[in-house]
Amino acid sequence: MLIYLNGRYLPLEEASISVEDRGFLFADGVYEVVRIVKGKPHLLQEHLDRMAAGLAALRIEFDGIEGLEEVTSRLVEENQLNDDATLYLQVTRGSAPRKHAFPAPGTPPTVLAMARPFTPHPASLYENGVPVITVPDIRWSRCDIKSIALLPNVLANQKAKESGAHEAILVRDGVLLEGSQSNLFAVKNGTLITYPACNYILAGITRALVLDIARRLGIPTREAPIHLADFDRIDELFLTGTTTEVMPVVSVDGRVVADGKPGPVTKRLLEAYREEL
Ligand code: PMP
Repeated sequence: MLIYLNGRYLPLEEASISVEDRGFLFADGVYEVVRIVKGKPHLLQEHLDRMAAGLAALRIEFDGIEGLEEVTSRLVEENQLNDDATLYLQVTRGSAPRKHAFPAPGTPPTVLAMARPFTPHPASLYENGVPVITVPDIRWSRCDIKSIALLPNVLANQKAKESGAHEAILVRDGVLLEGSQSNLFAVKNGTLITYPACNYILAGITRALVLDIARRLGIPTREAPIHLADFDRIDELFLTGTTTEVMPVVSVDGRVVADGKPGPVTKRLLEAYREEL
């Protein structure tokens, strides 16, 4: 597998970074995961725009964002990724002796890109829906930045795994915000609801696409909190994400959502999303 690191293409086994890399020492960086469909990156510009916004928010200087498009094409070509694949991009503040404050101006960022074949989740999960659990959201208040500092997400996701659940939903003040690696949507009385894109969630690229698809299909949408206390009034629940796609949720902490089957709005959106892909 050929990867891209700091301007060079090289086999994964030969790639290395400094132990002083600020990504390694401080989780001082951002990342993206992009879907490659039949050899073509899906919504790459949207992912690059989000990465640029994250870098700007963290004041990491990197002037090569647009060049990552060419890097992606080359990785797809060299690794012959003609089917489903995922692209991982990461930019950190570079390598320097360990001090919290930024390194000297001009310290080059560390830029990594790698792509590998991707196997989607089994079809049965989309047909039957998945269980999720809730966990308190212990993250910082800049969840809109796709930072590589993912410990709360890692712990939440591990708890889901150990509970036999597919995902952990992060809850703040009684509100179901998003999953550890996905966004969350509810359907109530025919209206699609998802938490507003603000500092408490990551504005998913799939979230935006699903909202757009819903508007095109004439499904009413509302960006508003989904309260755990309103659970009994939720007709449908689903997750979205680059690798999650549109995943129906049929139970939360063991409580069954409506009739316990993927709902009609979810199914329509999954179908339309797959068509887009
Ligand atoms: N929220 C969080 C916390 C995530 O990690 C992800 C996946 N990176 C998402 C939402 C979904 O984002 P996207 O649709 O861009 O994959």
